[in-house]
Amino acid sequence: MKLNNLLLATGLILSSQLHAAAKHVHDEGEVLIMNQGSLWDVQFTLPAINAVGFEHLPENKAQAAKVTQFIELARTPAKVLEFNGECKLVSVKESLSDDFQIAKVKYGHDHGHGHDESHGHLDASFSYQFKCKDAPKSLSIELFKALPSLHHMSAQWITNSSQGAKKLSKNKTEIEF
Ligand SMILES: [Zn+2]
Repeated sequence: MKLNNLLLATGLILSSQLHAAAKHVHDEGEVLIMNQGSLWDVQFTLPAINAVGFEHLPENKAQAAKVTQFIELARTPAKVLEFNGECKLVSVKESLSDDFQIAKVKYGHDHGHGHDESHGHLDASFSYQFKCKDAPKSLSIELFKALPSLHHMSAQWITNSSQGAKKLSKNKTEIEF
């Protein structure tokens, strides 16, 4: 359908515009909110150091457990965000166990030798889609409570009626649309 294609194209353009601002700063996450009609997409990108405590693929059972723990958190939207409105979760999108290659972790003993750690950076990304009866007035980010090392989040949003950006912190968790 023409209209669907147009909406899809618009969504992709908005999405890539928003992503153009993406950067990797430790202790700072990103949240992007895109609204079309009654659907609200919320995408999170966090430095892996704040999500799981390291920025490489897990190398032992303890690190794999950290990733599993974070996946559970990401799959519990009530601990991540709260809409001020009548909104129902439609879907959670995350591929964290693939991103962190959980299946490849060897569950053997720890050799104790130094690892050839790369000095790269890693992000943890996940997203939600909600369907809201009426446009929610605001959205609160609950994630700060679960991840104490996360100090800030830069939020950007494009809704049917407004667009904006705001820097969030533990004491400033609310985005008003
Ligand atoms: Zn990093």
